[in-house]
Formats: sequence, C-alpha cells, structure tokens
Amino acid sequence: MKRIITAVILLLACSTAARAQQAGRCDGRTADDEHYVIILSMDAFRWDLPQRCHTPTLDSLRRVGVFAETYPVFPANTFPNHYSMATGLHPDRHNIVNNGFYDRSVGREMSVFKHSDTATPGFWGGDPIWNTAERQGRTAHIYMWPGSDIEIGGRQASIWTRYTDEPSYFERADWVVASMCGEAADGRIPNLVMWYFEEPDAVMHEYGPDSDEIIPTIEHIDSALAYFFREIRRSPVFDRINFIVTADHGMAQLSKERYINLNGTLDERHIARVVSGRPLGIEVDEEYLDTAVEIIDRIGHIKAYKRDSMPEKWHYGTNRNRITNLLVVPDNGWTVEYADCDKPRDGGTHGFDPFERDMHTVFYASGPMFRKGYEQRSFQNLNIYLVLCHLLGIEPSPNDGCWEDVCDMFAEGETQPDAE
Ligand code: AMP
Ligand code: ZN
Ligand code: ZN
Repeated sequence: MKRIITAVILLLACSTAARAQQAGRCDGRTADDEHYVIILSMDAFRWDLPQRCHTPTLDSLRRVGVFAETYPVFPANTFPNHYSMATGLHPDRHNIVNNGFYDRSVGREMSVFKHSDTATPGFWGGDPIWNTAERQGRTAHIYMWPGSDIEIGGRQASIWTRYTDEPSYFERADWVVASMCGEAADGRIPNLVMWYFEEPDAVMHEYGPDSDEIIPTIEHIDSALAYFFREIRRSPVFDRINFIVTADHGMAQLSKERYINLNGTLDERHIARVVSGRPLGIEVDEEYLDTAVEIIDRIGHIKAYKRDSMPEKWHYGTNRNRITNLLVVPDNGWTVEYADCDKPRDGGTHGFDPFERDMHTVFYASGPMFRKGYEQRSFQNLNIYLVLCHLLGIEPSPNDGCWEDVCDMFAEGETQPDAE
C-alpha cells in the first residue's frame, strides 16, 4: 500500500515538474511569457459557405474574435497556398509554383503528391514557420500541413505527421488536444500547432460549390470544431491559446459548356511539353511564343501569358526553373486543357485568378491576442506567416508579407484570455 502511495506522489511530482519544464524555457522566458497558437486549414473552405449552411461554431468564432475574407496567392491551388501561409513567400520564391510542375534542373515533371519528389533536395524553398519557430526556441507540432513531413533547410518540427485521409476530424481534434495537454511523444506543450482537413475540397470538386450536396460536409466540419473547442478547454494553457481557422483557396462552379480543348489549335512542331493544371503550362519554341499567344487569345474565355510578362499582381513567372514560358489562364469557372479527346466536366475546381471572389476563403481568429467582434479588411493569405510570428513573439525570416495588412486584428495590450 505504502509503495502505491509513494508511486502516486512521485507521479504527481513528476507531472508537476514536467509541466514546469514544458512551460519554462532556458532563454529567460517564464511560463507566463509563453504564447500558443493553433491554426487549422480546411481545404477549399470558400468565404460564403457559413452563410449557406448551419455553422454555429464558426458563427460564434466570428462573434468572439476576428473575421476576414482572405484571398490566395497565384495559383489558387493547395500546395502553393499552404506553403505560402507557412513561409510568407509567393510561390515563385518558395519554389512550390503549383501542385505539379516540370523542373528543368531535374529534367522531369514533379508532383507534390509523390513522396519521392517532395523528398528531393531543393524541392522546397523558404523557411516554414515551424522551423522559424523552433530555431527561436519554440516548439511546433504539425499535423499533416503540406510540407511539414519533409526536412527543409536541415530542420523539421519536433513532431509532424504524414498526410492520410483516414483519421476522422474528431480524431484529429483529439490529437491536437492531446498535444496541448502535454501528452505527445516529446511531452511538451507546443507553442505552435498546425492541422489540416482535406474537406470541403473533395466534395466541392465532385458536386460543385453551388450544389446542396456539399452542405452535410460543411456541417460535419462545424460539429467537429464544436467538439474541438469543447475538448481543448482541458489544456492547462487554454487561457493563453490563440486560435485561427482558415483555408487555402475557394472553389468555382464548372460547367460542361465552359470547356476549351487547345489540342489542334497550336502547331505541335513548336511545342516541347504541356504541363496540365491551372494555369495550363506550355513550353514552346521562343520564336513561336508570340504566335501562340495570338492564337490562344483569339479563342476567348482564356488568356495566354508569356512567363516573363505576367500581371504584376500575381507575383508569378520569375521562377524560370519550374514555370513554362507560356501559361494559359482560364476565366473563372472555365476548363482549359490540352487533351487527346474532349472531356468537358462539371463539379468544381480552383486555381483561377486569386482576385476572383470565388477563390476567397474564410479567416477566423480568436484568443487573448485578438480583437473581439472585429471585421478585418481582406488580406492575402501569405500574411498569415507574419500573424503567426507575431503571436509566437518571434522574428520572421525574409518574406513577402505586409504587416500593415494584418496588424489591426490584434488587441492592444491585451494578454488576458477571452472569457466566453
Ligand atoms: P487539390 O485539390 O488538387 O489542390 O489537392 C487537394 C487534395 O490534396 C486534398 O483533397 C488532399 O487529399 C490532398 N492532400 C493534402 N495534403 C496532402 C499531403 N500532405 N500529401 C498528399 N496529399 C495531400
Ligand atoms: Zn486546396
Ligand atoms: Zn482541390
């Protein structure tokens, strides 16, 4: 009996010591100086979905914190955008110029969905926030955020998880809560947690954002979030956690009538390669470039750009190693491809001009460091890097963000938790 009591006392003492160690740091910061932030990305969660569905959790987040409509970087696809949020850089500069691209230096197409490609040295550029944070003494636990399962610049988050769609959103919430209770493998309470839901992207691709079929998925996400916000209260640092819920890009409705197949329109003898996707990439002989642009621009609903003269607002085209010399950008909701036979499709997709409202997403932020009930003007999602650095109290690495675009969302001098 005595032995059991001793063991219990020892256990209690250990967990108190562990908690002090988790919270305390050797760089002079005390437990009270520690900042915590948890950011969730819900793939393709378009800005207007909460207005069309029953989303009480997101609605209450909006009431108690900051809400903004954010817009993606070009191209409005999953990996370029998640990695821009993580690095504060435009895709040209962080190197993930699309989900797939032809890399001249390796001489073949590479895909973000192939581990053997993403593990190639030099595949990723920039300094992702989990590395910025850990280099400055913070702890990061990253759950399936694109780019986090690979060593970048010789570093990785303390804890990371490779992507799989198997765990339910409730199980993912449990993972985050366990981390914030100090129950992860390293026994630390992380300063930064980033997690990821692959919906509503998949359901919107299949049925299109205008369909009612997407509604149950949106409402399921909201109920998983309700569960998460209930459970996270168990964390001993709950009062000091700042929460962000956002997405990488929106979604546009497609139609079989809005379809263009470029096959047969260009002189194939001048085409070195076609890289499918949005934008559609075509590598043509330099002397054929102007002719190709002219031919494509006559078609309508698509626009051809030479890599070196893309619209400035997209900050795209300087990455000559990974971007073809000709890019074809469809109007919002149009499909353009270079295919052997016509494959018109409906449903939904993204990758269009980030300034089209269909590509815009939600941004919710709440916690002690945010204003309450504040509507923040729209900003580009790469500024989330600066928001995270500010929340963590760390120096940002070189980035393309603009502090003025996001600084108004923070509560002045407020350090106390939101008493909901
Ligand atoms: P897309 O719609 O082509 O931009 O890609 C979105 C899809 O990427 C999601 O539905 C996920 O299934 C998938 N995905 C997200 N993160 C990862 C990852 N880290 N590795 C592989 N696939 C991923
Ligand atoms: Zn996406
Ligand atoms: Zn998608």
